[in-house]
Amino acid sequence: NPLQPARYLLSVHNPHQLPKDAEIEVAVVGRSNAGKSSALNAICAQNKLARTSKTPGRTQQLVYFELMPGRYLVDLPGYGYAEVPGALRDHWRGLIDGFLRTRQTLRALMIVMDIRHPLKPFDLLMLEYAQSRGLAVQVLLTKADKLPRGQQAKALQAVRRDLPDSVGLQLFSASSKLGVEEARAVLASWLAL
Ligand code: GDP
Repeated sequence: NPLQPARYLLSVHNPHQLPKDAEIEVAVVGRSNAGKSSALNAICAQNKLARTSKTPGRTQQLVYFELMPGRYLVDLPGYGYAEVPGALRDHWRGLIDGFLRTRQTLRALMIVMDIRHPLKPFDLLMLEYAQSRGLAVQVLLTKADKLPRGQQAKALQAVRRDLPDSVGLQLFSASSKLGVEEARAVLASWLAL
């Protein structure tokens, strides 16, 4: 495992709370229930790092994990807008939009998609942010264990056709650990670990 143990650093509700000592950051994003928390836990080999199956209220923040001093993994909230009242939702959207558009230390996005429901509007929005900023991207097609091998390969091919060549794409499963080493290697190289 090329990754050092990850340590919970802080939760950010307001932009002024963003760590000032950051050197390189990688954000992990995904629709609610895509399997993002499980993927984070599997990649970091720490079962309780990111909470799985959270209530919507707990997810309205950027959660920072430190892999090395100044090298951060940022767990971005998934979209659960429907359950959130208007003012709070606007605050939330502002925080995330601002982070994705302007955070200078942000270098890359890991986009977690359920292999059975890839490339939804949220995912396309994340790809747009990455494209406009020149961020590196790795797409994880997770819950691959839910499909037989042949279907996995088909899904991978279909998604590949819809992505720019510069975007990395792989199968993943937090359950079977498929693709965990590949994702770790990508993360380690992004964070220069
Ligand atoms: P999040 O909302 O994106 O953080 O999603 P979670 O990680 O909480 O996962 C949502 C649900 O999908 C939970 O019931 C997980 O147990 C399940 N899940 C997540 N990853 C996998 C996977 O790789 N395989 C299978 N079979 N289930 C998964």
